[in-house]
Amino acid sequence: MSAFTYCPRCAAPLTEQTHGDRPRPACPAEGCGFVHWDNPVPVVAAIVEHPDGVLLVRNKGWPEKWFGLVTGFLEKGEAPEEGVLREVEEELGLRAELGDFVGLYPFHQANQLVMAWHVRAAGPVVIGDELAAYKAIPVSKLRPWPFATGDAVRDWLARRAG
Ligand SMILES: [Zn+2]
Repeated sequence: MSAFTYCPRCAAPLTEQTHGDRPRPACPAEGCGFVHWDNPVPVVAAIVEHPDGVLLVRNKGWPEKWFGLVTGFLEKGEAPEEGVLREVEEELGLRAELGDFVGLYPFHQANQLVMAWHVRAAGPVVIGDELAAYKAIPVSKLRPWPFATGDAVRDWLARRAG
């Protein structure tokens, strides 16, 4: 499903056209040229290591048992390393220290490319507006989940163990 039915430039109904060897929604209007490329969106993610454990968060609207990494979109002009620290501060109220880059993780269902870092933080947690809850999991009890940011947790744990 496309995010657009009508052209965001000229409001003509989009049609399917082949661009770059794939069918894509595109504008048929003369001289417009809009193509909905639908490229993946970069997302920053943080494995937040705190004295109480790794901090996982549940966004508002998520099922009760779902917890994941702190994640967020970059602001225009922002470096990813700044964005990940900003997200940690917004979601947990903590000024974190950037650790190692963990890796890049394509999350195809959401059309996102996740960039994950390990960060360190201490102090009292104050959750932001987007969150319903957080929990601290001791590193020895942390288990990766089999999708999305879980792969970053898996790799981070493997690197620590090795
Ligand atoms: Zn158009």
